[in-house]
Amino acid sequence: MKIGPNTVVTLAYRVTDPDGELIDPGERPIVYLHGGYDDIFPRIEQALEGKEVGDSLRVTVDSADGYGPHDEEKVIRVPRAALPAGLDLEIGMLLVAEGPNGEQFPLRVVGLSSQEATLDGNHPLAGQTLHFEVRVREVREATEGELEHGHAHPAGHEH
Ligand code: ZN
Repeated sequence: MKIGPNTVVTLAYRVTDPDGELIDPGERPIVYLHGGYDDIFPRIEQALEGKEVGDSLRVTVDSADGYGPHDEEKVIRVPRAALPAGLDLEIGMLLVAEGPNGEQFPLRVVGLSSQEATLDGNHPLAGQTLHFEVRVREVREATEGELEHGHAHPAGHEH
């Protein structure tokens, strides 16, 4: 079966950056609903149209088509004293800030001085060009439930 509208596709994949450094080894395959449901980056979806089990391809997804540009306004410096006491701050650590309506914002610690912490609210892969290597492992017709929900229901999927 060829990949086309309303098929569910299983992909083995790995992601590297432009220097060939591994970003995501793809330990679990991607399972997505094909046909403009926004269940995967559109650039990858377009490249997979008409492909079959066993086909491999490389797709470059730049930040505009991926996780968006890195926004400097989302990088903030706060006095350490303004953060909850007892946090053992380390570079790379993920903190979660809460907005006025209880919405949560993940913030990554990207800089530390004795007085201040620099926190980055961008997606960790914002601003990055991503090289995907994908191989088609399975193609099947979508179920009614999948079409209703607009996403794939891989085994073990729960809502
Ligand atoms: Zn669903």
